[in-house]
Parts: sequence; structure tokens; C-alpha cells
Amino acid sequence: MASEYVFSAPPVVSIPVVGKGTRFPVHRIYCVGRNYEDHAKEMGFTGREPPFFFMKPADALVVVDAGQTGTMAYPTLTKNLHHEIELVVAIGTGGKNIAAADAMKHIYGYAVGLDMTRRDLQNDMKKQGRPWDIGKAFEQSAPIGPIVPVADAGDVEKAEISLQVNGTDRQRSNVSKLIWNIAETIEQLSAAWELAPGDLIFSGTPEGVAAVVAGDTLVGAVAGLPTLTVKIA
Ligand code: MN
Repeated sequence: MASEYVFSAPPVVSIPVVGKGTRFPVHRIYCVGRNYEDHAKEMGFTGREPPFFFMKPADALVVVDAGQTGTMAYPTLTKNLHHEIELVVAIGTGGKNIAAADAMKHIYGYAVGLDMTRRDLQNDMKKQGRPWDIGKAFEQSAPIGPIVPVADAGDVEKAEISLQVNGTDRQRSNVSKLIWNIAETIEQLSAAWELAPGDLIFSGTPEGVAAVVAGDTLVGAVAGLPTLTVKIA
């Protein structure tokens, strides 16, 4: 049986792990929608709904090493590229129907991520009842910093989360304000998909989402994790 590929296979997308000298190979990227009450409200919703999910392809990541400035190209088709700062959960042990009480054992570590969104295209799709992919799952739509193993990450569930654009605050909140906390999110997510090692979960963004333009520099932070710096080219 033939074993050669007809062309070179795409490389495994991976993220550096702080302090380990090894890398975290990425499987899937799940994202939680409207998971902070004040962000749900600014998007026109009540903030009191069950969690819902969408996905991005693994190769949408822009992996930025600690202390480096990553570059994201301003994407095509949009005139309203929004930032969403998020705590990212990195799954180390897979499973399905994981109970919230057992969920934290499945986590390898945490990172700071940006769920970059073509808001105008997403809003068009919402109005038409169509999938969000064109607004959410485009190339370079998911900048991410290095992963910190759980033991070194501190209490991320009570950490301040923030985003500055060109040095000015845009988003500032606390992970404790998640509507569905990390364990509850894993419970719900793993009822719908079997989680695997290498999965990432973008846990949702707090209020303050807004547009960026070419030339802007974004600095995202979750207390206890390396800062994520990205320039829009
Ligand atoms: Mn988001």
C-alpha cells in the first residue's frame, strides 16, 4: 500500500510551553460565545443562556513567543475587525461527558489568546441565520501566547484579564466573572464533542470589544500568564 503523500503534509501547529523546552501540539480550537454577562449585554443579549460553541481551524493560530511581538495581517473583506481578549484552556487529557467535578484534571495549562473577529461579516451571518465561520474562523484569527502548565499558572479563575490597544485600556475584567466557569464549560463541551489532548478552549471575552486598524498594537494579559503582544499589519 502506498504511504507517500501526494504533496507535503501540513506541519503540526504547536505552542511553546513555558519552562519546559517542549511544545504543545494543537488538535482543535473550540470557542465559547457570550460567556461574560456585560459582553453578552453589549452584543444585545441577556447573558442568561446556555453556553454555545464555535470552532476555528488550528492553523488560524498566530503563535507568539514570550517577550516577542506577533504580527497579524489585517484580513480581507472586513471594515470592522474586533479584538476579543480571552483566557485559553489547553486540554492535556481527553474525554467525553466529563463531569464538572472532574474537569480540572483534564487541563494541561493556560494561555492568553485573542479571538479576532470580522464583526461586520459575523453580524451579517447572524441576521441571516447562517454559520459564523466567515466572521470567526479566518487565517490568523487566533493569536496566542505561550502555554503555562497548571501548576505554574496560579489561580487563573480569579485573575484580572485585560486588553490595551496602543497603550489605552479597551477591556478590563476578571475571569471570575465568567458565566460558565472553566469546569462547567468543559462539562458542556465534552457532552457535544469528545475532547482530545491538544484541544484549546477560548473561554469567552469580557465587555469592551471594539475595532482595530492596521498599525495598532494590542497587548493582552491574564494575571499570572505571559503577556500577548500583537501588531496589526
Ligand atoms: Mn470570543
